[in-house]
Amino acid sequence: MSENETIDLEERLRLLPILRAHRCITCGWCVLVCPTDCLAQSNGLPEIVRPADCTFCAVCAVVCPTQALEMPEPSGAGEQPSRPPATSPS
Ligand code: SF4
Ligand code: SF4
Repeated sequence: MSENETIDLEERLRLLPILRAHRCITCGWCVLVCPTDCLAQSNGLPEIVRPADCTFCAVCAVVCPTQALEMPEPSGAGEQPSRPPATSPS
């Protein structure tokens, strides 16, 4: 595996949805809606069982009623230039 492939894999793992388990009410919606079936419930909590199939679509995070799933920011997102402040017409 080349260094670039290793970096890509690390970036993919970093971009997977993050579970805040204390917020999860084990409703299972995220598992039901995942278009690639990469989530499964384990003791009620969602688990990414096929991380290679995750497309980072964020559907699981969007449907979660308690915001227990969160999508990480892409790397470098904090380094983006900020939008210039709006100016009011004079
Ligand atoms: S981000 Fe999309 S593909 Fe990945 S686990 Fe959530 S619903 Fe599934
Ligand atoms: S949709 Fe949210 S609350 Fe429901 S099982 Fe998934 S993470 Fe837990």
